[in-house]
Amino acid sequence: MLFTSLERKIEVLIETFIRKQLGLKAHTVTKAEETKGYMVIHIDRLGSRLLRCGLCRQRCRRVHSICKPREWRDLSMRKLPLKLRYRPRRVACPRCGVRVEDFPWAEPWARVTSALSNAVARLARELSWQGTARQYGLNWKSVATIVKRAVQYGLKNRSRPPVHVIGIDEVSRRKGQVYLTVVYDLERRVLLWVGDDRTEEAVRPFFTEEMGRRRCHTLQVICMDMWAAYAKLVREHAPQAQILFDRFHIVKHLNEAVEEVRRSEMRRLSQKEKVAFKRSRWLLLKNPWNLSDEQKERLSTLVRWNAPIVRAYYLKEAFQMFWDYQQPKRAQDHLEKWMRSAMRSRLDPFKKFVRMLRGHLDGILAWTKHRISSGAVEGMNNKIKSISHRSFGFRTAKHFIAAIYHCCARLPLPVER
Ligand SMILES: [Zn+2]
Repeated sequence: MLFTSLERKIEVLIETFIRKQLGLKAHTVTKAEETKGYMVIHIDRLGSRLLRCGLCRQRCRRVHSICKPREWRDLSMRKLPLKLRYRPRRVACPRCGVRVEDFPWAEPWARVTSALSNAVARLARELSWQGTARQYGLNWKSVATIVKRAVQYGLKNRSRPPVHVIGIDEVSRRKGQVYLTVVYDLERRVLLWVGDDRTEEAVRPFFTEEMGRRRCHTLQVICMDMWAAYAKLVREHAPQAQILFDRFHIVKHLNEAVEEVRRSEMRRLSQKEKVAFKRSRWLLLKNPWNLSDEQKERLSTLVRWNAPIVRAYYLKEAFQMFWDYQQPKRAQDHLEKWMRSAMRSRLDPFKKFVRMLRGHLDGILAWTKHRISSGAVEGMNNKIKSISHRSFGFRTAKHFIAAIYHCCARLPLPVER
C-alpha cells in the first residue's frame, strides 16, 4: 500500500517536472510511461485553455476537431529517449480558418522537439552529420533536415551590420572538380555568403541579393585572388571599393612557380643525383631561419647543382620583402625591380607570374595602404576543408553549402519557447 502510493507520487513528480521543462501553459502532462526503449510522455489539453493557431499564433476560441495522435522525439532522460505523444487539435482561427494548433514544444513541420533539434544543430557544428546522428539515435537524413531548417532560420534572422572589408574566395568540392564561391567579412571573421560555382554569374547574387544596393555602398576593400573573375562585378556593384589581391594568394602563386621550376629540374636530373633531392620541396619553401643544420647542408648542395632552382629560390626570397615596405613608392620600386629581374631569369614559371602581376598592379600595391591580413581567409578555408573531409565529401552541393553556413556563418539558432 505504502509502496504504491510512493510510486504514484514519484510519477506525479516526473510529470510535473516534464510539464515545467516543456513550459506548457495550455497543455499538461497526463502520464509518463516507460516502454521498451522509450519514455512516452502523454500530453493533453489543459481544461479549456485557449489554443493558438499554428499559422499566426493567435489565440483561438473554438476547437474544430481532434486529430490522430502524433509523436515527437525529445532529448533523452538519462538513457531513455523521451517521446511526446499528443492528439493535436484543429482550431478555427478567425484570420486563417481551420488550422492545426501551434505546439509550444516543436515547429509545425517537425517530428522532433525544438529542444532536440537545437541540441542536434549545435552538435552538428562540431561533428559530421553521421556522427551527430549516431550520438542522438537519429538517421543522417533527420540531421540533414534539422541543419537545413536551422540554416534557413539563421539566414532569415541573422543580424546584418554594415560590411567594410570582404574576402572572396573559392573552395573546391570533390577534389577540384566542382567549385563554390565563399565570401567572408574579414573584420568580423565570419562567413557571409556561399555561391554554387565560381563564375561571374554565380557570384552576382551576392551583390544583388545578399548585399543589395545600399549595403554595397559601405564596402571599402575587397580581397580576392588575381585569377578570380570577380573584378568586373566589383566595379559594377561597388565601384567605390578598392580591390586588393591578397597576400595569401600571391604567395601561393609564387610558391607554385618555385615548385614548377623544381619539378622540371628534377625531371632533368639523372637517377643518382635524384636521390639527394627527394623531399626537397620544403627546403625551398621554408623560411631560411627555420631550417635545421642538416637541411641547410642539403639546401647548399641542392643549390650548387641546380642553378635554375637557385635563381627560383632567391627570386622567391627577394619578392617576400615587398610585404614589409611601409611607403607605397618604395614598395612599388621594389616590385618593379623584382619584376625586371624575374623577367631576365629565364624561368618560364616566373615570367608567367610576372605577367600576372603586371595585369593586376593596382590591386597588389594596395597592400601597403590597407595591410589586410588574409589569415582569416586561410583559417576559414581550412575549416571548410575539414567540414568536407569529416563528411567524406558531401555528395550534393546543397548539403555542403548548408554545412558551410552552419559552421562558419555564426547563424542564430531558433529560439526555444
Ligand atoms: Zn491564424
